[in-house]
Amino acid sequence: MNKEKIILTADRPTGRLHIGHYVGSLKRRVELQDSGCYKKVFIMVADAQALTDNAENPEKVRQNVVEVALDYLACGLDPKKSVIFIQSQIPELCELAFYYMNLVTVSRLQRNPTVKTEIQIRNFETSIPVGFFTYPISQASDITAFKATTVPVGEDQEPMLEQTREIVRKFNSIYGETLIEPEILLPDNAACLRLPGTDGKAKMSKSLNNCIYLSETAEELQKKVMSMYTDPNHLRVEDPGRIEGNTVFTYLDAFSKTEHFERYLPEYANLEELKAHYQRGGLGDVKVKRFLNAIMQEELEPIRNRRKEFEKDIPAVYDMLQKGCHTARETAAQTLDEVRKAMKINYFDDLELIRGQVQKFSGK
Ligand code: ATP
Ligand code: MG
Repeated sequence: MNKEKIILTADRPTGRLHIGHYVGSLKRRVELQDSGCYKKVFIMVADAQALTDNAENPEKVRQNVVEVALDYLACGLDPKKSVIFIQSQIPELCELAFYYMNLVTVSRLQRNPTVKTEIQIRNFETSIPVGFFTYPISQASDITAFKATTVPVGEDQEPMLEQTREIVRKFNSIYGETLIEPEILLPDNAACLRLPGTDGKAKMSKSLNNCIYLSETAEELQKKVMSMYTDPNHLRVEDPGRIEGNTVFTYLDAFSKTEHFERYLPEYANLEELKAHYQRGGLGDVKVKRFLNAIMQEELEPIRNRRKEFEKDIPAVYDMLQKGCHTARETAAQTLDEVRKAMKINYFDDLELIRGQVQKFSGK
């Protein structure tokens, strides 16, 4: 098998990881890691990126680094198979970003739809931190530093991948073939592309406080599921209900399998039948939510239990991260050497350069 493909993906340590991360990227990463089809898998805790909109809250970022690492381990990311590391410990990434900045215009950054939405959510309006505004460039460094070919992420990352590809093409056309153009790997299931929040808002996001966390206790999970946003006009059981924009059904699209019906709701053969009943009227929200809760409990229980095991040895988690940083740094340093050479800023290891200058100044 041709094992040339390399994965890189990341999460911001702005909170514990939630089921949006899980269906959007995390679950897939574990499958890819275990498939054995990839030469390398790099998983990054993007603390430097988290600081771009949390500059005044460093403790939050610091605390969440280990939370994210625990969620990784709990989901099955394995440091024997994947390099798990922390962004800020790889200074080469900053240097790459500094050079890539020359290849991107301000108006190009302003067109990024994900950044536009995030600026709105954070109420930055006219006071956008420059670091936040330019984070798509920093993301291009993260991806290219590891020569990643494949980036498994949710749909919100599409503009970042497009920006990265543009930078790679521009860099290679000016300085010669050096960087690898990555491709995005989106979830197959449409409901997982951008899982909505429990409040029905377009995206479950740590910054919006509408999350179901992977480490939620069984009681918290049940409480969140039972108070989820559904169809606000579906007041009585006999009323016809709407499926579109109904978060409970979107989560069922993301999580339910036929076997769940056999186990928990045998009066329906599949999700289509359940949806049809809801639309016709005569099916109450509570019954659907109870079904969703059973499925979610089943999916999250093993994750929660594994996390508890890893929580017993926190120094081992830091040790694992430190080793990951060391390995990641070696790879990034190698790419940076190549970039410096291509950009002609390698003054001391280029004998040709020195010889040419000698000739120039000696007039020969
Ligand atoms: P923040 O609010 O701090 O930006 P976030 O919840 O958006 O946090 P990120 O760390 O930015 O999470 O995203 C990490 C990964 O999870 C990315 O690949 C992103 O596409 C994916 N992801 C995040 N939220 C969702 C979601 N609701 N549905 C699907 N994928 C998601
Ligand atoms: Mg985000």
